[in-house]
Amino acid sequence: VVYLDHNATTRPVPEAVAAMVQALQASWANPSSAHGPGQDARRALAAARARVAAFLGCGAAELVFTSGATEANHMALLGALQMSGRERILMSAVEHPGSQALAQRLRGQGVKVDLIPVDAQGRLSLAAARSLIADDVAVVSVMGANNETGVLMPVAEVAALARSAGALMHVDATQLAGKAPLSFAASGADLMSVSAHKLGGPKGVGALMVRKGVALPALLSGRQERNRRGGTENLPGIAGFAAACDRAAATLAADIRHMAAQRARLEAGLAAALPGVHVYGAEAERLCNTLCLRFGTLDAEQVLMKLERAGIVASSGAACSAGGTQPSHVLLAMGESPLHAKAAVRLSLGFDTTAADIDAAIAAATQELLPLLADGLAAAA
Ligand code: PMP
Repeated sequence: VVYLDHNATTRPVPEAVAAMVQALQASWANPSSAHGPGQDARRALAAARARVAAFLGCGAAELVFTSGATEANHMALLGALQMSGRERILMSAVEHPGSQALAQRLRGQGVKVDLIPVDAQGRLSLAAARSLIADDVAVVSVMGANNETGVLMPVAEVAALARSAGALMHVDATQLAGKAPLSFAASGADLMSVSAHKLGGPKGVGALMVRKGVALPALLSGRQERNRRGGTENLPGIAGFAAACDRAAATLAADIRHMAAQRARLEAGLAAALPGVHVYGAEAERLCNTLCLRFGTLDAEQVLMKLERAGIVASSGAACSAGGTQPSHVLLAMGESPLHAKAAVRLSLGFDTTAADIDAAIAAATQELLPLLADGLAAAA
């Protein structure tokens, strides 16, 4: 099959698999143990940490390994609330479903959560952010790029706003890593989440970057990770993460150029072959690999079924909300009608997606969807 669902997850790169196997076989001792094997594991952990930190542009001491971005997002928001004693948070209206669910839970506990709206292109409203920010805000949380549309967010501008109110700035950079240049140091953010499995690493490992000097409380108590994340370190996962970072670092600029070219080929090919193609965020700055679109008002579930039958797998919105029958909150926040939002399909490319893959996807979509769209046009006439 042609896999066009890289924003949901990526196939682990061979370097990551090899590093994981090596860690499982050679560095299985507990990095907290005082004996020789434990100290060897501790050194392997430190080496992996340095490589991940180099890729992310943060200090090794600023990096807290977690079980993934969902945990990192929880640590950021809950920690910021606890640390500041403030009881209000701001987040974009298009954050990941895990963060939205946390916000909903916090509301039930009396925390005020205000959503910063986006425009029809999915771009964050800085004017609204400016009017919502105040000195009762503990943290402003904005994703680096949206997982459904790929639309980029103005992180530096929001960080400046947050700083002006004494609030922390958190960036969910899960979709940026491996698909855009990324530097925690340069971002202006205090806290930043990433996940290994979006850039060729394994699932179940990620990180929260915590700016030096920010005394963020732990989510899981314990001595590991400088008292910031208890639990025996997931060394195989972390080793796989580091190998994926090394691979991405070596080819990032070329990967981005390649994905941008293939995405353009896909977008142009579909628009030329099919009537009624509408691309979300087409006028916004987007990630190089993401194409969120609808084919007229054809229901996404039907489109995905047809495409899969023809050997192309993709998704509707976030994998985390797939299976649900609700239209995407991201597209609703962009002002789409529920009918249109339920027609949205996300095609997301990887660094290893080939031109032949793209041509196969265009051919499959044309073959499977053109008859349906032609029927629709005839019915409308
Ligand atoms: N944030 C964003 C923007 C994501 O795309 C994802 C992955 N769907 C997550 C958070 C969750 O990451 P993880 O699977 O590592 O918990």
